[in-house]
Amino acid sequence: MTTIIHRHERRPRTKLRALDPEQFPRGTRSDFFVRMFETASSGPIDVPFIVARGAKPGPVVGVTAAIHGNELNGIRIIHNVIEELDYSSMAGTLIGAPIVNMPAFHSGVRRFPDGYDLNHTFPGKPAGRSAEQYARAFSTVFLGPCQYLIDIHTASAGRLNTMYVRVDWHDQTARRMAELMNPEIILHIAGGDGTLRNTARQRGIPSITVEAGNPSVFQGRIIYEGETGLRNILIDLGLVRGEVELTRVPVVCKTSRWLRTTSGGLLDIRFDLADRIEKRQLLARTLDPFGYELMQFTAPYDGIVIGKAQYPVAIQGTRFCHLGQLGEPEALGATGTSASADGNRDEQ
Ligand SMILES: [Zn+2]
Repeated sequence: MTTIIHRHERRPRTKLRALDPEQFPRGTRSDFFVRMFETASSGPIDVPFIVARGAKPGPVVGVTAAIHGNELNGIRIIHNVIEELDYSSMAGTLIGAPIVNMPAFHSGVRRFPDGYDLNHTFPGKPAGRSAEQYARAFSTVFLGPCQYLIDIHTASAGRLNTMYVRVDWHDQTARRMAELMNPEIILHIAGGDGTLRNTARQRGIPSITVEAGNPSVFQGRIIYEGETGLRNILIDLGLVRGEVELTRVPVVCKTSRWLRTTSGGLLDIRFDLADRIEKRQLLARTLDPFGYELMQFTAPYDGIVIGKAQYPVAIQGTRFCHLGQLGEPEALGATGTSASADGNRDEQ
């Protein structure tokens, strides 16, 4: 059946306000869209939210996915964890935003339609460029009630990731959340320009970024691992009952860098995800069209592979290895812990 919407019926604009969990019934989930933005034809862009409220009072935990529109694993992680909640014993509220960047999700791409990276745009501006207005609208609605934040991402297109967590290691609560995610690697990075995590962090909300696998796919194993980790956090915070499941000791990295080729060519990569790497170890070669070696690239420090290029056709300057540097960050006040701030910002 065709629904006819007359021009004069266009809804008046309503002012966006922070979600108030108290408005939702206890002991059940509420699923709804919030009108967040408008298309060029003045149509609505509606963003889905799930407010899962336990029968008992407790903390409010926010979980987001698809801030980059092609990062899909987190969507199913949120769905599955919420589907299994037992509301009668649950104490507190889980607010899920499974598809944050709805315009990019529709197009199957990473960035907002204006070409900007939404996760370098938070907290946004009320009269800024498109992505900034969207970021502002989303953070106003979502972050207001949150006391903890888990923001789920994946690698970007053409790259493969281990399961790893980015966190400010000096924030004790956030560090514990990172450990409970049961990742292969925990990477210390204090802020990150314009990320939702950094905006939350600046508002005193302990927050982590989970990098869960690869873009543009649902990966069963990664989704299962993400669910287990998220449930661990909810158990630890007292929201849900159950036993925390930890199956590995994560490798802690104090910083990281994306290594880039300094010649063009075909990439011959000699490492795998999560491999331990020794300083000066051969990581990759570039080959010319005839198969002859052009350059060798070796490791600048002892480390572990966090991410790698998938596509072997490399123009000069292609990122081929995201190499974590082993070790815990120095205590606050010491120097030398911020080298990763620029090197891996595109992965956030
Ligand atoms: Zn992302």
